Amino acid sequence: PADRAARSRGRRLGVMGGTFDPIHHGHLVAASEVANMFDLDEVVFVPTGRPWQKSDQLVSPAEDRYLMTVIATAENPQFSVSRIDIDRGGPTYTTDTLADLRAENPDAELFFITGADALNQILSWRRPGDLFDQAHFIGVTRPGHTLTDPGFPAGSVSLVEVPALAISSTDCRARVAKGQPIWYLVPDGVVRYISKRRLYRDG
Ligand code: ATP
Ligand code: MG
Repeated sequence: PADRAARSRGRRLGVMGGTFDPIHHGHLVAASEVANMFDLDEVVFVPTGRPWQKSDQLVSPAEDRYLMTVIATAENPQFSVSRIDIDRGGPTYTTDTLADLRAENPDAELFFITGADALNQILSWRRPGDLFDQAHFIGVTRPGHTLTDPGFPAGSVSLVEVPALAISSTDCRARVAKGQPIWYLVPDGVVRYISKRRLYRDG
């Protein structure tokens, strides 16, 4: 009966967009926690093509970011990775990500998972109202950022607390550049991939 109920209500699909340069345990804990809290069937990680907010910064090749995301999520049967933003090319806009995932999953309910910092940026987006029609938004706590409801449309955004991990990709890159360890901040396979591909060596 439980799986019949799951089928009849449609799949609940979490969407975790990010640069993932590199993916770290903060991303994974947020996805895992939201999947449990919202009874999601799957969380799909979507590495950005070129993130429009970061176009003036150096971002690692999409293929490296994609492979690190695959390595980090491979063991979890609930996690998957999508190439849609990478293969679309050009700057990534969340509205395109959600539209493409909607086309691939016409019957699924979409839940877009985002950290407090990224959620605050939504307000600066051109027409955030349209986004809230495309998915339910879930804002998660992140150390160093305040999670506040600035008056989102009713019922469109849930703010939730996840175990605090003060990890950022920026810090991981800086640590590698300085020769400091990133063991236990990112999955072991990602540490080895970064070292094999000599990513982040020059800061
Ligand atoms: P960078 O420092 O390069 O910006 P990042 O650590 O912020 O990297 P992103 O790929 O930019 O990682 O983030 C993808 C998503 O994950 C965003 O919604 C972001 O808010 C969220 N996120 C990142 N780190 C954490 C964390 N430690 N706890 C909760 N959410 C996080
Ligand atoms: Mg970020």
